[in-house]
Amino acid sequence: MNAPPSTPAGTAAQAPAEILSVTRPSPLLEPQLRAAFTLHDRLHESDPAAFAAVAPRIRGIAASGESKVSAELIASLPALEVISVMGVGYDGIDVAAARARGVMVTHTPDVLNDDVADLALALMLATARQIPLADHHVRSGQWAAAGPLPLARKMSGARLGIVGMGRIGQAIAQRAAAFNMAIAYTARSAKPGLPWRYLPSAQALAAESDFLVLITPGGAGTRHLVNAQVLAALGGSSAERGILVNVARGSVVDEAALIDALERGVIAGAGLDVFADEPRVPERLRALPQVVLAPHIGSATRATRQAMADLAQANLAAHFSGQTPPTPVPECRGHG
Ligand code: NAP
Repeated sequence: MNAPPSTPAGTAAQAPAEILSVTRPSPLLEPQLRAAFTLHDRLHESDPAAFAAVAPRIRGIAASGESKVSAELIASLPALEVISVMGVGYDGIDVAAARARGVMVTHTPDVLNDDVADLALALMLATARQIPLADHHVRSGQWAAAGPLPLARKMSGARLGIVGMGRIGQAIAQRAAAFNMAIAYTARSAKPGLPWRYLPSAQALAAESDFLVLITPGGAGTRHLVNAQVLAALGGSSAERGILVNVARGSVVDEAALIDALERGVIAGAGLDVFADEPRVPERLRALPQVVLAPHIGSATRATRQAMADLAQANLAAHFSGQTPPTPVPECRGHG
């Protein structure tokens, strides 16, 4: 990786490093960025001519988990040394192009595990117990006018399949254990140290699950991992069909196949925090009452976003003081 230039003893301090934010900076991160660096907030989009003038001086990029940093953008920044992602997922960053240039990529793992796992359980419960419908039933006066809601689905004791058994997948499994769920998972490889049953594919897992929760990275390796066949397997043949929960990335699911499966009653419902083309969500999906929708809020609590902002800033600060950043992405570990 490119080492930041050192300041010889006795010389004047260097000017602050220039950073390009490729996303609207979090209010929890922006003051830290402005205090330590010269920040160019989305200048490449708002003023390409001004961006061309500063591009040769840009040494860092501040990004979010949903940001796109293309090989083309990286190529346009000859002094780029580091990309700091405020988020654990970095599927929008062309890490191969960054590595080829010796550019360090960092992210913010672990500090968001609790929140994303909490949201997964919340979506499982909200979908199974029809919480949004129940809320509407009371608010709208239908409870008094039309009587009780149809009976819902029991979650405690049901079979849970988790697709992706990394940091967050394990936090989900730990929570689900308190609901006496029978837990199984799939991942690229079995985890012999974990107490839960491994199945070799999403389809095999879906066939043995009442709830299927997705918590893998996005990107090419997981694109449409959940397709029509997996949804058919989740549907099974019982009267109580399966429920899909996606807190991973929209790209992991074939969204057209999901909408089709929901409309035809192949699966019972879905709880979705992520979508194929955020923030655009298909009207057909929004029209379905058996679907619970959230606007990508997995890590969106004040405490967790503060921890993510602090870690994103710590990664930049470490790099520009000549140290190895605390949390490089796996592809950049050992290259500090
Ligand atoms: P992690 O520790 O790297 O775990 C990822 C898991 O996915 C691993 O178990 C990995 O398998 C598995 N996996 C990867 N490719 C797979 C494939 N092709 N088939 C099956 N399993 C595969 O990551 P994490 O910290 O738990 O985060 C996971 C993801 O959650 C992030 O990358 C992000 O996309 C998403 N996320 C969403 C939100 C939100 O707001 N909704 C917030 C944070 C994170 P192996 O262990 O065998 O390698």
